[in-house]
Amino acid sequence: NLQEKLEGAFKVLKGQGSITEINVAETMKEIRKALLDADVNYKTAKAFTDEVKQKALGQNVLTAISPGQLLTKIMNDELTLLMGGSVDELELKQNPTIILIAGLNGAGKTTFTGKLANYLKTQKNKKPLLVAGDVYRPAAIDQLEVLAGQVGAEVYTNRESKDPVAIALEGIVHAKQNGNNVVIVDTAGRLTLDEALMDEIAEVKKATNPHEILFVVDAMTGQDAVNTAKAFNDRLDFTGVVLTKLDGDTRGGAALSIKSVVNKPIKFVGTGEKMDALDVFHPDRMASRILGMGDVVSLVERAQQQFDEKKAAELQKKIRKNKFDFNDFLGQIQQIKKMGNIKDLMGMIPGVGKMMKNIEVEDDAFKGIEAIIHSMTPFERENPDTINPSRRQRIAKGSGTDIAEVNKLIKQFEDMRKVMKQFSDPSAMAKMQRMMK
Ligand code: GDP
Ligand code: MG
Repeated sequence: NLQEKLEGAFKVLKGQGSITEINVAETMKEIRKALLDADVNYKTAKAFTDEVKQKALGQNVLTAISPGQLLTKIMNDELTLLMGGSVDELELKQNPTIILIAGLNGAGKTTFTGKLANYLKTQKNKKPLLVAGDVYRPAAIDQLEVLAGQVGAEVYTNRESKDPVAIALEGIVHAKQNGNNVVIVDTAGRLTLDEALMDEIAEVKKATNPHEILFVVDAMTGQDAVNTAKAFNDRLDFTGVVLTKLDGDTRGGAALSIKSVVNKPIKFVGTGEKMDALDVFHPDRMASRILGMGDVVSLVERAQQQFDEKKAAELQKKIRKNKFDFNDFLGQIQQIKKMGNIKDLMGMIPGVGKMMKNIEVEDDAFKGIEAIIHSMTPFERENPDTINPSRRQRIAKGSGTDIAEVNKLIKQFEDMRKVMKQFSDPSAMAKMQRMMK
């Protein structure tokens, strides 16, 4: 399924130290394949992967996360946008609000009509009336009556009539007399798209002037769902989509493509046959579901936040108290190395950028520094001031360097601490700003 394929695509990135043109291109190729296999239409998949690639390559912020995690986060954000960004609520202000239900046979219209009534009653404090507009099958009227009974909603039927337009209008009159503030008109479908179906539903629309037209589509029909959505939208200009049967082994492709192809929001998803198996559509949750990495996404967000806020605050505090030590220094170096493109990052760490300018911007340059710091005892790292000449001699030996190099590093470190402290002291900052004026 899509989820597994995407995970496969992410493996390309595993163990990679940074996001580069090449590994992103490879990963995006895999992701595009996975999306196409999951019935996402080609244009959507292409636009999506191009966008993600751009965003990924533009990423040069300092974060404590791997490129794969970062990409997951970007994909999650982009998928969310692709599916509409945020929740699109039903428009329920009119009294009565008229909602027309459209779609092919077996899509789940009648089931959804019952579910929607249940939702409106329990979540929105409404008094809905269900109108049985499927005049071709007596069983369809029975079905709606049964569902209405289950959720405790009222139904309007006219078993004598074969005219869906008339029945819908009668239903609306009945609702006004009866104090129903929402009217949901269930309609007949066809097995496939045909003119007669479109004409009929268009007539009902014209006569009833509905506030919402919800197009119900079976998510299991994959690419067909997108084509059907387009045909219905061309004719009806519907206001929202209901994706049904997302409970089973459903491929997520339809949800991805529909919004971008017809540019209408998905408003609900059906997740079962029972009357409470209806969810308001949350693009962000759907994105996580498609990625199958909900945990990773929140982990990434947490990591980002933690690094950005907590670490920065801690570091600032330490710097202000002149407690910035060799452990912090080592942490900063490791952070920088993880990100790959060092030069871009130099200026981004408070205070450190200035110091780094004096150091060769190569991994080799860090190797010497790291070796020296690793040869310090934990006590020495935490208390740089205690590193006296005999300790320096020992550190030089242990790190395979010489005392001059150790001295140089410690001197640089001390200079850096001074500069950092200056920059972090609010009164010093104010002084500097005054001087620059
Ligand atoms: P209609 O012809 O469009 O009115 O479709 P129905 O409402 O009669 O539904 C057709 C079949 O799909 C019924 O057996 C429903 O129980 C089933 N169904 C509808 N929605 C869902 C859903 O979200 N999940 C599952 N598993 N089955 C559904
Ligand atoms: Mg039906």
